[in-house]
Amino acid sequence: MNKFTGYRCSVCNEIYGPDEVTYTCPADGGNLDVLLDYDAINKLSVDDLIFKDDQSLWRYLPLLPVSDPGGRGTPLRAAGWTPVFSPVLLAEKLGLKNLWIKDESSNPTASFKDRASAILIGRAREIGAEIVVTASTGNAGAALAGMAAAVGHKSVIFAPKTAPPAKIAQLQIFGAKVLLVDGNYDAAFELSIQAADEFGWYCRNTGYNPFTAEGKKTAAFEIWEQMTAVSGQPSTVSDKLSVFVSVGDGNIISGIHKGFKDLLELGLIESMPRIFGVQSNESAAIANAFNAGNEEIIPVSATTRADSISVDLPRDGLRALRAATQTNGAYILVPDSEIIAAIAELGKVGIFAEPAGSTSYAGVVKAVNDGLIDPNDPVVVFNTGSGLKDVKAAMQAAGEAPVIEPTLDAVRKML
Ligand SMILES: *Cc1c(COP(=O)(O)O)cnc(C)c1O
Ligand SMILES: [Zn+2]
Repeated sequence: MNKFTGYRCSVCNEIYGPDEVTYTCPADGGNLDVLLDYDAINKLSVDDLIFKDDQSLWRYLPLLPVSDPGGRGTPLRAAGWTPVFSPVLLAEKLGLKNLWIKDESSNPTASFKDRASAILIGRAREIGAEIVVTASTGNAGAALAGMAAAVGHKSVIFAPKTAPPAKIAQLQIFGAKVLLVDGNYDAAFELSIQAADEFGWYCRNTGYNPFTAEGKKTAAFEIWEQMTAVSGQPSTVSDKLSVFVSVGDGNIISGIHKGFKDLLELGLIESMPRIFGVQSNESAAIANAFNAGNEEIIPVSATTRADSISVDLPRDGLRALRAATQTNGAYILVPDSEIIAAIAELGKVGIFAEPAGSTSYAGVVKAVNDGLIDPNDPVVVFNTGSGLKDVKAAMQAAGEAPVIEPTLDAVRKML
């Protein structure tokens, strides 16, 4: 069944056929929403909609705009279906009745980006694209390089030369052609688009290729399935639920919004959850627009320590803004000091986050303190990336360990 019917521009609402465009709206550069044949999907029963034996995002194949990419037994088929944890210690500390953490660090390349890159590789195989390319602060590149390597595609990755070494190492190990740009993420982004045009590569760029959000939406499906299973209720996804997401380009939050909209369209939920975007004070372009009460995203000069959300001009800003404004959510700003402190907090319950991963939790702390959420209502927060991606930040959060003489006496002195 081919469920993919075309695109709609998020700015001018123009509809395009599947073969008419590849990336953004030719008229205004707006991000394109992927359209699915909901009538056909609606004819399926829930049992046919979800392949329950598949422990990856491919369990939702009937809801995805690509056909089965093959690659069984490879990391391509292991993206998604990440665990949700219920950390009692943190819930009690915050006075929340139901706190859930969806831990994306258990994806094959250890970040949320695997969801997008898996679908991208699926699309690349469909259209016969041999070489895939992306600009990345590190995680999108590692995800694309890893998924490409899994099924024998070539990848080219443009990253800022300041990306954390662990992320660059991942790119190298996955055999990508790695080009470190002497400039920031935004410079890498522009260059990668020019290079893709020049050399005929298929470009995955976040907030540019419409298929990334279709991979990211699967996280919403998982919240719906997993929370329903854990709570035993028909569906815990309703307007009582608050979902917290850290935001850079704004494609994760847009994708999650799309996922819940799909569920609503298919009648699987009755109302949308509230979606909260969290940004650093030092990379606040979308939050600024939210606070100004308009849809004009003005670029900033981003300097946040959380490299994965350090973005001057968010490439999916409009849809990211609407994810909050259309769901009675909000944008929350936190300082980098609270982002680093949140790494240590998550560590107390056995979750290891990179700075951009802990940003969403810092946002929950702020939202609770500011009375933005009812403590009786459930909260889901994403850890979007592993702490192993940026050990320098982790050391900053945890401090140095002491070095001692190899004697019991020395141990005694430390107790
Ligand atoms: C990419 C990324 C984000 C932000 O996603 P956007 O789509 O750019 O908003 C957050 N956390 C981590 C770990 C990421 O890699
Ligand atoms: Zn348009």
